[in-house]
Amino acid sequence: MCCSPSGKPGALNLSVNQCPKDVSGVSDLYCLHRLTPEQERVFEEHYLHCPACTKEVERSQHCIAALKAASSPPEAQ
Ligand SMILES: [Zn+2]
Repeated sequence: MCCSPSGKPGALNLSVNQCPKDVSGVSDLYCLHRLTPEQERVFEEHYLHCPACTKEVERSQHCIAALKAASSPPEAQ
């Protein structure tokens, strides 16, 4: 789901050789830096070799960038 990270990072069981069960949730958490350093490292190692997860990370980054742009007032310069 876009822009709505759910679940607790502590409950995630990430593997370098396997896609996470909730790829979009994990990639959202990853982009929001809500994963533990260990989880971040494992997911990074995985998605660099996984086109599907790379795509999810790109989607999350795009999504979060849009969210940040929307939450900052346009008149603030
Ligand atoms: Zn994957």
